[in-house]
This record gives sequence, structure tokens and C-alpha cells, in this order.
Amino acid sequence: MKLLQGQTAWITGGNRGIGAGIAIALAEAGANLAIGFREQAEQAEKIVTMCQELGVQAIPVQMDVKDFTAMHEAYQSVRFNLGEPSILIHSAGISQIGLFQDMTQQHYEEVMDVHVRGAFHLIQFGLPSLLKRKSGRIILLSSIWGETGGAEEVLYSAAKGALNGMAKALAKELAPSGITVNAVAPGAIHTQMLNQQLTKDEQYELAKEIPMGRLGTAEEVGSLVRYLCLPEAGYITGQVIHVNGGWHT
Ligand code: NDP
Repeated sequence: MKLLQGQTAWITGGNRGIGAGIAIALAEAGANLAIGFREQAEQAEKIVTMCQELGVQAIPVQMDVKDFTAMHEAYQSVRFNLGEPSILIHSAGISQIGLFQDMTQQHYEEVMDVHVRGAFHLIQFGLPSLLKRKSGRIILLSSIWGETGGAEEVLYSAAKGALNGMAKALAKELAPSGITVNAVAPGAIHTQMLNQQLTKDEQYELAKEIPMGRLGTAEEVGSLVRYLCLPEAGYITGQVIHVNGGWHT
């Protein structure tokens, strides 16, 4: 049974990595998908086709999550092509590795804006649709570092911590409207982001530190997010839910 049939999910950063894993998982459950991307249009088309092959409607939507006007236009496109969204997922993200003393104003703005301002824009434009239906799901992709802090990733950790706070506070505000809000905090997931940060040897060494002995996959994050979107997860809200192979407990 396709439990999300007739629903529309708007995913930022849906064209690759974890966002793409989430898109496919939601398409398997019958949701229509607006696949957000910033630059890699070809990759977005690929995920759109994969979703369509699963029998749902899917469109690519170009947006820079930092940009208010671009996000407004993206929202109009989602609404026009797929109808009002009922699921909002913020997966767009960038990493910023380096010592704190080497971080500049530009680094600060870029990291905070993609993660925190991007979430603010997504929710600001998408929320009225959820409030109208008196139901819906908001899921923000956080990180293990948002809770434990990651050395040489201070700005990234701060941004993810902010998303955790946003999810918890918003969950309280929106609970009476039947809307759940959660943060999902992955550990080390094998995507382009991780490939940019660590060599193959470093990934191998990192895997040894993880109790499961391996990195996670985008599909594994996707199935958690899909579960949170199902009606049976309707009592889970205001949580930071970890998916990290036991790396942080
Ligand atoms: P990837 O680097 O594989 O993908 C990043 C995605 O974000 C792409 O879809 C990219 O679009 C999009 N994006 C980046 N900047 C912008 C922007 N300004 N506007 C719109 N879209 C943008 O990352 P992951 O899939 O690994 O990460 C997904 C989320 O999960 C991120 O929030 C990340 O912080 C978090 N996470 C990842 C972990 C990991 O180990 N991989 C661990 C913990 C958290 P485009 O392709 O068009 O550039």
C-alpha cells in the first residue's frame, strides 16, 4: 500500500546524495516529488526519472536556498505543477572544513545561510500549505556534529545545532496544527560531500571507528525519513533522530 499517495514532498538538495535517497524512498511510498537542486540539473533530471519510474509525479526545481526570491519562485513552481506541498525536507548542505581561525565572514555567511536561512525560507514558503491542511511533516537534515561538535567544522556544527533548535521549537508551535517537525542527524554517510572531505583511505580508517564498521548509505537515511513521513509516525515530533551506526549514542 502506498501510504503517501497524493502527497507532495518538496526537498531541497534532492538531486544527489542523501536528498536523492530521501526522494526515492518517498516515491516508493507514493509521494509526488519536487526535486530541488542548485547547479547539477542533469543529476536532478536523473532522480526525477527514477521517481517517475516508480509511478509518481516528479519535477526538478532549481533554487538557491539562500535566496528569498528564488525560493519563492520555487514554491510557486511546486504548487503549480504538483499542488500544495505537505512534506518539507531541507537536505541542501555544504561542508566547511578548516580551523576556526581560518574562517572568514564569507565562510560564516555561506554555511549559516545554506543550512539555517535555507531552512527558514523552505518553511516560510511551505508552511501555509501545511497549516491549511492541518497536517504535514517538516524534516531538517542535521548532523552528528550538531550535537557533539566537530573539530575543524565549527561553523558547520553551529549551523546544525541551530537546525536542532529550530526543529524542537517549531515542533511545539506546530503540534496543535497536526504538523510534526524533526531533525535527522546522520553520522558518516557515503556521498559526494564525504568524498570531498576524506580520501578513500581516510574513509576506511573512519569506518573502523564506527561500531557497525562501515559508513552509512543515503538509502538508510531515506528509509528513516520516509518512516517519519508516514501516518504511523504522527506522534514523533521535536526530536533529533540519529542515524550513525552507533558512532554517537
Ligand atoms: P552532497 O554534497 O552530496 O549534496 C549536497 C546537496 O545540497 C546537493 O543537492 C546540492 O545541489 C545542494 N546544495 C548545496 N548548496 C545549495 C544551495 N545554496 N542551494 C540549493 N541547494 C544546494 O551532500 P549530502 O547528501 O552528503 O548531504 C545532505 C545533507 O545531509 C546536508 O545537509 C549535510 O550537511 C547532511 N549530512 C551529511 C552527512 C554525510 O556524511 N554525507 C553527515 C551528516 C549530515 P547541487 O548538486 O545542485 O549543487
